[in-house]
Amino acid sequence: MIRYIGALDVRYQVKKTEIVSNWSGRKSYDLIIISAGISGLTTGLLWQKNLPESKVLIIEKEPYPGGYVTAYERDGYVFETTQLFPDVIAITDYIGLDLDLKQYEGNFMRRLVVHDDEIMEYHLPAGAENLKYYLQKQFPEDAEKIGKLMDYSINLFYQLRKLKALSTLKDKLMIPFLAPKVIANLNTTYAQLLDKFGIVNPKLRELMETFTSFAGVPPGRASSILTTGAMLSSISSCFRLHGYFDEFPAAMAALFQKRGGEIRLNAEVETIILDGKNASAVKVAGNMEPIRGDRFVSTLDPNLTMHNLIGDKNLPAAYIEKQNSTIMSSSSFNIALGLDDKIDLSKADLDYPYNVISTGAGTTDRLFDAFLNGENAFNEDCFHLGVVCPSLTTKGKNTITIRAVPFGPENWLEWRLNDIKRYNSEKMKWADFFISLVEKYMIPDLKNHIVVTDVATPATYARYSGSPTGSIYDMASLVTQFGPKRLGLQTPIANLVQPKFAHGLYGSMMSGVQVVDIMLNRKFNGGNSLFNPRN
Ligand SMILES: Cc1cc2nc3c(=O)[nH]c(=O)nc-3n(C[C@H](O)[C@H](O)[C@H](O)COP(=O)(O)OP(=O)(O)OC[C@H]3O[C@@H](n4cnc5c(N)ncnc54)[C@H](O)[C@@H]3O)c2cc1C
Repeated sequence: MIRYIGALDVRYQVKKTEIVSNWSGRKSYDLIIISAGISGLTTGLLWQKNLPESKVLIIEKEPYPGGYVTAYERDGYVFETTQLFPDVIAITDYIGLDLDLKQYEGNFMRRLVVHDDEIMEYHLPAGAENLKYYLQKQFPEDAEKIGKLMDYSINLFYQLRKLKALSTLKDKLMIPFLAPKVIANLNTTYAQLLDKFGIVNPKLRELMETFTSFAGVPPGRASSILTTGAMLSSISSCFRLHGYFDEFPAAMAALFQKRGGEIRLNAEVETIILDGKNASAVKVAGNMEPIRGDRFVSTLDPNLTMHNLIGDKNLPAAYIEKQNSTIMSSSSFNIALGLDDKIDLSKADLDYPYNVISTGAGTTDRLFDAFLNGENAFNEDCFHLGVVCPSLTTKGKNTITIRAVPFGPENWLEWRLNDIKRYNSEKMKWADFFISLVEKYMIPDLKNHIVVTDVATPATYARYSGSPTGSIYDMASLVTQFGPKRLGLQTPIANLVQPKFAHGLYGSMMSGVQVVDIMLNRKFNGGNSLFNPRN
């Protein structure tokens, strides 16, 4: 369907609505996947690629696929949730997915750090080597330390490929030889990694800490391995779609259906029915008859899958305890702005995957501590914001997205449920506060050009994803939740797996890789934790 929107006659292909349910009404499947987010769609496509004859059903509660990755229209403007597409091209190529991508060749990020007396401005280039040279140029007195840190990080990321998602005894014995840096850093925070290389210059340090703040986690708690992985997977090659982001899940869903997969939309899974230690079927809300399956994958928030769909009484106490002590990632506060055509955004130096403004060192610590206590520490002297300008690529009407992380769900859920007036007034109060910051530091006169404001709170994310905490990156990437300490993909229910790798599209797609490999007894990806297929 092609729709023409607004006075500028922007052509917006509403890709996500092109996907319709093709559930045949079958009563039994080889594999049932709960949800058509990026994790679920990747799982479906990879499974199909390895077992083309298999009968697979994806069940999704929303009327379209994509989960958090979407685009939507408000008053003639098209807004998106997602900003950047990390380097997952090897997987999309393997699947055979054809996407119209723009690769960011120059800089990966414009970074402003606000201090009382000065504003530091950096343009971080794409590519690990480029970033190394850029940092060395900016901080010549630390050039040697930067060189060592970056070389070590690149090598650490390389060794991650040797790590196994599901290890045999032989793997376990080999890992210290194949990936010594990974083993050495299993319990290392990103702050400790910086310490190790003597990165003490406060300006350099706060700049490097950008890569943990991405996920709203402070450097003193973030896993050094996950942070290094997130940094290198994002900066190595970074893309976005030329069109709108809903094209990505729509293309995946269309391919899955073309290859014989079935998707049932508008169907909320209410229960996973057990037969002893196995799952036997799922029940969709409002439907009496369960759909049977041999295997099940749930890509939902683990709290939802375990507490709601399975039920604590059906799970071992130790597992529930581990689940309950898991810290989920934060939610987000997003402001999508539609601007008039009098503002020339091409002159605002915004054409990067990410523009980030924050206050200096210690910001994420304060925000994260408040988040853990169910509070909010954002103020004039403590903030961290992402700003993107999608319309520079899509060529649609002028749009800006502002994103504040970490935001907790507490009050937002309560207000939305019981006090909608307060919910709306808080929404507008915070939106105005963040817009003022962006106007002050990045886009002068911004407020005078706003035509449409659309705000998403943690309650919005909770509603769409089903995650009770509106978490946007699944389990938080804390060092205390990395590797063997993380809730595993294999659940206590023998034929149910939950692929929850880490944050972002890279993590979601890697989740699909790992889970399919586990279900195929390592025949597809050799048990590797990252994508490295056998053929
Ligand atoms: C505002 C925002 C911006 C982001 N920007 C980026 C970015 O630029 N780059 C990046 O890499 N990552 C980004 N992310 C993160 C990324 O979008 C997510 O990590 C990823 O999309 C998660 O995919 P998923 O499939 O695991 O889960 P989700 O996308 O959360 O999908 C879960 C799905 O489950 C469905 N569901 C829930 N309950 C049920 C049920 N009972 N029955 C059936 N279906 C159900 C939901 O409808 C949803 O479709 C962003 C996230 C947000 C919120």
